[in-house]
Amino acid sequence: MRQNHLFAPTLREAPADSEAISHELLLRAGFIRQLASGIYTYLPLGWRVLRKLERIVREEMDAAGAQELLMPAMQPAELWQESGRYSVYGPELIRLNDRHDRAFALGPTHEEVITALVRDEIQSYRKLPITLYQIQTKFRDERRPRFGLLRGREFLMKDAYSFDSSWEGLDRIYWRMYEAYATIFARCGLNVRPVEADAGAIGGEGSTHEFMALADIGEDTIASCTHCDYASNLEKAIAGDRDASDDLSSDASTSQPPLPDDEPSNFAAPPSQPPQPEKLHTPDIRTIDQLTAALGIEASELIKTIVALVDGKPVAVLVRGDHEVNEIKVRNYLGGAESFEMADAETIATLTGAPVGFLGPTGLAIPVLVDAAVARMSSGIAGGNERDYHLRNVCPGRDFPLDNVSDFRNVIEHDPCPRCAEGTLDFHRGIEVGHVFKLGTKYSDKLGAKFLNAAGQPQAAIMGCYGIGVSRMMSAACEQHHDDNGLVWPLAIAPYHVHILPVSVKDEAQMQAAEQLYETLTRQGVEVLLDDRDERPGVKFKDADLYGIPMQVVVGKQAGEGIVEFKSREQAVKNTITIEEAIDRIM
Ligand code: ATP
Ligand code: MG
Ligand code: MG
Ligand code: MG
Repeated sequence: MRQNHLFAPTLREAPADSEAISHELLLRAGFIRQLASGIYTYLPLGWRVLRKLERIVREEMDAAGAQELLMPAMQPAELWQESGRYSVYGPELIRLNDRHDRAFALGPTHEEVITALVRDEIQSYRKLPITLYQIQTKFRDERRPRFGLLRGREFLMKDAYSFDSSWEGLDRIYWRMYEAYATIFARCGLNVRPVEADAGAIGGEGSTHEFMALADIGEDTIASCTHCDYASNLEKAIAGDRDASDDLSSDASTSQPPLPDDEPSNFAAPPSQPPQPEKLHTPDIRTIDQLTAALGIEASELIKTIVALVDGKPVAVLVRGDHEVNEIKVRNYLGGAESFEMADAETIATLTGAPVGFLGPTGLAIPVLVDAAVARMSSGIAGGNERDYHLRNVCPGRDFPLDNVSDFRNVIEHDPCPRCAEGTLDFHRGIEVGHVFKLGTKYSDKLGAKFLNAAGQPQAAIMGCYGIGVSRMMSAACEQHHDDNGLVWPLAIAPYHVHILPVSVKDEAQMQAAEQLYETLTRQGVEVLLDDRDERPGVKFKDADLYGIPMQVVVGKQAGEGIVEFKSREQAVKNTITIEEAIDRIM
């Protein structure tokens, strides 16, 4: 590619609204441009990176035995009603009507579509297992789109879905995907840590993992042990090393809705029954202060009280970072008979007999989160263990400033490791670039995806889902690979491998040497960008460093003698070598 023709407009200054270094550099280097909040155009260099990421993902998915297909982004609302997620998903789901006023949604994820497809096409265990995937644009009307490609509203995801006739089969494909993910991130040059996430009702060890690219800008917190290999997301660390606990939450923003309450709970019975709060109708309660006033308790007792036994059943309130006023969930830990998804407070109160308050927008999660840790330390309710509350997707740093949770962090950070108890928990920031999850029969039950097993009996398909944020990976790579001068792409995902920089395009010897090198390398399959612009050397070098192509060859005054300067973008050390040596180094 000749740079004279390349559409990659660079900016000298950081755009005012760029909050993350990856965002700033991708804009400045002309890789992306914003169209609307959380919606981006990939310019030619950015598109090349994205396609390379895609290709690596595709190769590893194919190698793991998954088959690629492509599903529609536009999905009939009926399908979402069938799964029950049409109401649960909340404002993140982009809804639209066609000209006949039929309701549709733009897919934030594809469990519904794929489950319906498999339901209609697969009737026998002989056709199982099967794993299908796509690489496709997803739509989520994120509450806070930000950091460029890290949290977009339209973004590229690889989503895979496995269908099995046995739980052992699910286990096999789950770990195969886990391995494939580790390979993908390593190939892309990303420093990624798989962490245990809080899985929910499926139970069993390792039933969900998130892959976290370590980066300070990351919106997630990872807790890892100083002694053993334990690593989990913060939520899991709070919840402890549970095995068969229920998923209390539906992060409407994830593809993991709460699972049916069909597992025995290991909620520890409280040693003594705490005072029962009055049954409450609190439609006007909007804040924690109002709630605690209504309950007649201190804020520090909030969690304690809400997990109190009500009619002999412990209940808890879930607080989400981006919950709307009516998105509170109360969950019955015991018995497993009732499980409530998002419902209005009155319904919850009626069903559970529990006190229900409305917790308002984001900031209000703060005292609850802090108090959760406090309550854990002081609570007699569940013997001081950690199972008496569960806060999911309330994310320190993302949903409220970290300063406000210093108490909380201290408590957790000084905790012994839940696995080995010898080390203590360390905290790091991470970007969730991938997520593997055992879904079980949640969707196949809801959508009736049954097959006939070997005994001729109808049985629900056992599913897993596996996501990778392909466009998010691009920004995550920039967070991990940059310096003061610009981007520093890992070779495998770089837009080009080599950047040839003739110092003066008016110098015939230089241009001839540069052209010849360009031809030679290109013929060998090396991807080369040739800066044939008539620009000052300073401008060329600045742009080259900003683009971050891994190898630079400066063709200057000694070109006539067959001598050039070779520079690896990463090491930034210049070597004066012959053109032949340069070719050797590159190939
Ligand atoms: P997050 O916790 O960051 O909101 P999520 O848990 O909602 O992500 P999943 O439903 O697990 O996301 O989707 C699979 C993958 O898609 C994520 O691991 C992430 O890499 C990517 N992803 C999710 N939301 C976005 C987004 N808004 N922009 C870019 N990538 C995203
Ligand atoms: Mg989300
Ligand atoms: Mg997540
Ligand atoms: Mg996720």
